[in-house]
Amino acid sequence: TIQLSKRVAQVKPSATIAMSMKAAELRAKGRDIISLSMGEPDFDTPEHIRAAAIEAINEGQTRYTAVDGIPALKQAIIDKLARDNNLAYEASQILVSNGAKQAIYNLLQATIDPGNEVIVPAPYWVSYPDMVRLADGQPVILKTTPDSNYLISPTQLAASITDQTRMLMLNSPSNPTGQAYSLQQLAELGEVLLEHPRILICSDDIYEHIWWADEPFASIAEVVPALKDRLVVINGVSKGYAMTGWRIGYAAGPAAVIKEMRKVQGQSTSNPCSISQAAAVAALAGDQSCVAEMCVAFRERHDWLQPALDALPGVSCSPGKGAFYLFADFSGAIRTLGLDDDLGLAEHLLEHAGVASVPGTAFGAPGHLRLSFACGLDTLKAAVERIEKALDPQA
Ligand code: PLP
Repeated sequence: TIQLSKRVAQVKPSATIAMSMKAAELRAKGRDIISLSMGEPDFDTPEHIRAAAIEAINEGQTRYTAVDGIPALKQAIIDKLARDNNLAYEASQILVSNGAKQAIYNLLQATIDPGNEVIVPAPYWVSYPDMVRLADGQPVILKTTPDSNYLISPTQLAASITDQTRMLMLNSPSNPTGQAYSLQQLAELGEVLLEHPRILICSDDIYEHIWWADEPFASIAEVVPALKDRLVVINGVSKGYAMTGWRIGYAAGPAAVIKEMRKVQGQSTSNPCSISQAAAVAALAGDQSCVAEMCVAFRERHDWLQPALDALPGVSCSPGKGAFYLFADFSGAIRTLGLDDDLGLAEHLLEHAGVASVPGTAFGAPGHLRLSFACGLDTLKAAVERIEKALDPQA
């Protein structure tokens, strides 16, 4: 028999991808399925970005590039971080990767030793705990509740820190909840972190531009500048510029960490796609109005879907501040229908409503469903109508 590594044995395949595949299977069989399980904008990549990619091909930008990215893109990233986040970086502090996902993977590979702990607030993006395990680290999951808008408290953070803690993962606005820390809350978490200089902070800001809170978006180092020396900002063009397939993300952080991350990438994938890099320059350095336009559409959908979900029997859902997800507590509905859990509910809705969602268990928060609103309002309205019918125990 073939021997497989212990490392892969403890890792699960991505649950969000599994649900999308199940929905696609039913659709292929001719079922009318509305998918609210997607993790990408429904918009096409803006025209000026596509044009830049075509120009790059025609100009012959089709060869290997520097592992950490072409100088023009690194400069566009430096300018973006200064413009949007008030954070100053040099080229040696930037690494361009195949999506934000690879940037996070590189970071964990470069900084985590066996047994090191990484604090992961739940609900979490599905990949964090498994990426920590792939680095032989130990995810330490911090549970949150709807009462705190699924955000961790400074006390909770302080209590979870041990001698083995190496990193805190922050993702605000969050996938799956759409919730975000206020400036005050970031300051309070920062105070705890200031007492523990050996803890790195990974700030996954990938949903930065899909944002409608009253306060402006802020990365934690903007609020607590003393943390910048041990902060790694993760961001990319996937969500904000509707560029998921292009696979461009980046990390900005201490040069010593970035150098080791670059080494990991150099021995695994080398540079991200040269053509996509040229497109990302156009995205980050070009006209930003496309970002604002998409955000307006996401907000309109959020503002319709949130009260509609909250009004469903046995469901409670509070407004989010950004991203394109709502995370609703369906525990009442699960009980009324006599189902076991959120996994059972997601299957029930797929079967009886033809609506695909992602069960909260995948994000470390049972009893919930994540519903994505990266689709038109009409689709959302049809989906909610169908969910309402399928939640009726008499039906
Ligand atoms: N971080 C979070 C929180 C995400 O939701 C995602 C995508 O789903 C990523 C990172 C990865 O983004 P990318 O497509 O740039 O790899």
